[in-house]
Amino acid sequence: MKFRFTFKKLILTIFVILVILIVRPVGFLTYTYFKDKKSLKYVYLGKTKDASNLNETTIDSIVRPSKQIDEAIHQISELIKQAKVSGKKISIAGAQHSMGGHTIYPNGILLDMKPFNYMELDSSNNVLLVGSGALWGKIIPYLDHYGKSVSIMQSNNSFSVGGSVSVNCHGWQLNSPPISSTVISLRLINANGEVVNCSRTENQQLFSLVLGGYGLFGVILDLKLKVVDNKTYKVQQAVIKSKDYVVEFEKLTKNNSNIGLAYGRINVNPDHFMEEAILSVYLIEKEEPAKLNNENTYSAFRRTLFRGSANSNYGKNLRWKMEKGVVSLVNGKRFTRNRILNEGVEVFENRDTDFTDILHEYFIPKESVSMFIERIQNIIPRYKVDLLNITLRNVKKDNDTYLNYARTEVFGFVMLFNQERNKTAEAEMSALTRELIGVAASLKGTYYLPYRLHSTKAQMLEAYPQASVFFGLKRTYDPQEIFNNQFYKAYGN
Ligand SMILES: Cc1cc2nc3c(=O)[nH]c(=O)nc-3n(C[C@H](O)[C@H](O)[C@H](O)COP(=O)(O)OP(=O)(O)OC[C@H]3O[C@@H](n4cnc5c(N)ncnc54)[C@H](O)[C@@H]3O)c2cc1C
Repeated sequence: MKFRFTFKKLILTIFVILVILIVRPVGFLTYTYFKDKKSLKYVYLGKTKDASNLNETTIDSIVRPSKQIDEAIHQISELIKQAKVSGKKISIAGAQHSMGGHTIYPNGILLDMKPFNYMELDSSNNVLLVGSGALWGKIIPYLDHYGKSVSIMQSNNSFSVGGSVSVNCHGWQLNSPPISSTVISLRLINANGEVVNCSRTENQQLFSLVLGGYGLFGVILDLKLKVVDNKTYKVQQAVIKSKDYVVEFEKLTKNNSNIGLAYGRINVNPDHFMEEAILSVYLIEKEEPAKLNNENTYSAFRRTLFRGSANSNYGKNLRWKMEKGVVSLVNGKRFTRNRILNEGVEVFENRDTDFTDILHEYFIPKESVSMFIERIQNIIPRYKVDLLNITLRNVKKDNDTYLNYARTEVFGFVMLFNQERNKTAEAEMSALTRELIGVAASLKGTYYLPYRLHSTKAQMLEAYPQASVFFGLKRTYDPQEIFNNQFYKAYGN
């Protein structure tokens, strides 16, 4: 009798454990998968918006240039001359993944450069000549065919070259400054509608203003970019204490020319918030890289696990446990450089029409990284925000751009938030952003400019002391302020 009672209890206990360990996470992920909307299709007649989904704006018109070089030059020059006569403003757009209306001017003309996307590779000199509208998602397969790869770019392939150099993007490429260091030269159509060559030896000042210049100095027509060989990489991941990030990062990477890519992720689940990190490095292997194919990368599962963490502490805890759990399985796996770089933002983007994903990024000098983590660990939980992800990237000093953010070696903290699309959530995010910018500034750090325009003007000028002269030079090169956008409206005058 006693035995039967204990046995019953044992069965019940096993059943409860099974429910907790298997049925709940499986049920949770299945629910997330089916709740997730499958596609996004919006048509905004006479309107435009960017990746923030928070700034739909009425515009005059959208103009798309021809694919043919001479025809496109003629069209864009004429457009600029007509805009000057009519007093209309031109905002320039690539993939519109900036988030503060950097591609938008109210009632302005939106010049969508995406159709202008030709490519020509000089394989023996590792130089790609490319139209500014080309997306990395088209460039990588093109380069892959020749055994080449992009030298410096973002962590996803959804962006245009013109937009990437105009914000001076960076990614996970080890020992690398931002993308401007890979630009050999570019052709710009200026405010007079003339084509101007810019490089480190020709029109040098304009070159440094256009790179990281947010479309304020003219239309980048095409560029010569340095490219590198595609390689096979082997993944090596380790779970570390986040406060030891720089020490661990340097232990693995310093004086090691055998690493291609490196980045970290800090935990955002409420259990031990920001105390741990997963450091990932990609070791260069001798093995010949395989050609790109459509191999399954478990993207549906990764997406479900990621989106399940939105608005859910359970989902966040589950995700971090699983991500740590697979470290030993991922270690030693081989991928080509192109395969890693050729992934779109669809893998994680927010498809919920009531919410949107918002990015922040803070660049912190390496000696202050632990202090920054310690400070924001206490600040973020005080706000009603839903932080989904923090990645850490190392960026070397930028010697090329005027409005540079990496004025010394820095670590970029990229934070992705899930934000409700309403005024209350926007006010909360604005307050948090200002506080985080203040923390970064107190540690001699900066913040990234392509995101929401929450910083005060004073904060912007503190983080970018060169901004006043930068905006003054904008008016020298473009006195009628033809090239214009919400970013310039907010901080430029
Ligand atoms: C999900 C997501 C992930 C991101 N990841 C990263 C990352 O890993 N690293 C990083 O550095 N950034 C990242 N960003 C930020 C940033 O928005 C992009 O790096 C970059 O702006 C994307 O290029 P785009 O084509 O979308 O640019 P757009 O948003 O279209 O344009 C950006 C700026 O460039 C100007 N511009 C565009 N084309 C031209 C042209 N031909 N001539 C002159 N000016 C032009 C525009 O006027 C605008 O001011 C990310 C953004 C999102 C939404």
